[in-house]
Amino acid sequence: MILSKEHCEKAAEFRYFAEKNIDCGDNYPRANLHRAAEKGYMGLPIPRQYGGLGEDFLTYILFIEEVSRVCASTGVIMAVHTSVGSMPLLYFGSEEQKRRYLVKLARGEYIGAFALTEPDAGSDAAAISTGARPVHGGYRLTGRKIFITSGGEADLYTVFATIDTSLGRKGITAFLVEKGSPGLTVGRTESKMGLHRTHTAELLMEDLYVPVSNRLEKEGKGFSVAMSLLDGGRIGIAAQGLGIAAAALDYGIFFLKKRADWKEGNGQGKRFELANLATRLEAARLLTYRAAANRDAGKGKAMEASMAKTAATDLAMEAASWCIETCSFEGIIQGSPPVRFFCDAKATQIYEGTNQIQRIVIARSCSEVRGS
Ligand SMILES: Cc1cc2nc3c(=O)[nH]c(=O)nc-3n(C[C@H](O)[C@H](O)[C@H](O)COP(=O)(O)OP(=O)(O)OC[C@H]3O[C@@H](n4cnc5c(N)ncnc54)[C@H](O)[C@@H]3O)c2cc1C
Repeated sequence: MILSKEHCEKAAEFRYFAEKNIDCGDNYPRANLHRAAEKGYMGLPIPRQYGGLGEDFLTYILFIEEVSRVCASTGVIMAVHTSVGSMPLLYFGSEEQKRRYLVKLARGEYIGAFALTEPDAGSDAAAISTGARPVHGGYRLTGRKIFITSGGEADLYTVFATIDTSLGRKGITAFLVEKGSPGLTVGRTESKMGLHRTHTAELLMEDLYVPVSNRLEKEGKGFSVAMSLLDGGRIGIAAQGLGIAAAALDYGIFFLKKRADWKEGNGQGKRFELANLATRLEAARLLTYRAAANRDAGKGKAMEASMAKTAATDLAMEAASWCIETCSFEGIIQGSPPVRFFCDAKATQIYEGTNQIQRIVIARSCSEVRGS
């Protein structure tokens, strides 16, 4: 799938924006988010009537790739904010909920987050035990969510809880919870090997009151809400992987071009490695763009999102490793760009469904299509 002229122009616009406006500093990248909000980029695929730019999903994917090429932490914060932080409202919110929250998210006045994972429920999301006890006018939520991107920084969380654990996935319900709600506290912030600028935190809920007006969809629909959002979220993480892989290749090439043997036309081994990685980068791009374009056309498939995520994030890891080896001792220094690419890439293989889980999705879909 080749990008249209308009998509190519957008990609060039995003590259220019990212190189001029996205910094790769140390702290939570508020300034980056603010600059993106000024351009309307925090609501790229959100319709104009709800404060967004009304672009298609593929355009948003091109944006995440370019931002991640400069700063993968900013990339994932924006991806989570948009794919699984704002889309729940767009797809499943009532008109009143959209007016109340989606407009603020699209304008970047609010940062969105997604709270599904628990200590005993990661890959098996149906095993969540955070409870939602029905009370007059709403629910009381009690439980613990872990590893929540933008935890403590976000203004709005889509929280998944169960009205009855014995119902399994049929009990899971989605709720909109605002920062600062009584009963919601932010627990431990994780110290991670990469993505240092994202706050990955624990959320603790103790008798947290959520009015019925903040329930997304009907009771028991939360599991299908979460799964349908994750398909889009995975394409966003694929784009993040593309950005990291491209940055790692660019950095390695920059280093190689300074070497005398490279200038003299030698270093065949390195050239072959580079050729293989560059070919895989284009292949992963095609998978990612196709998954996004099919989603735009209303024929997105879980398998395509899983293939894109696996191909792009596994590649990011390998390209980062190659970059370290290529830069040799300069590449292994703590805080150097190659080490940052490597440490950032690892997390992309884990969140929004590990790459092992993606392979299960792919294999299941293949056997349904091809099996006799
Ligand atoms: C940096 C970071 C940010 C995150 N942000 C968020 C967020 O914003 N919101 C949120 O809700 N969650 C978030 N997560 C959590 C993430 O989605 C989970 O870590 C992920 O789904 C895996 O769950 P788990 O860690 O419990 O691993 P487990 O499910 O315990 O899996 C452990 C290992 O076993 C493998 N495995 C599990 N089941 C199978 C199987 N059936 N077959 C083969 N292998 C299997 C897994 O692939 C993995 O390698 C984040 C995680 C990280 C690292």
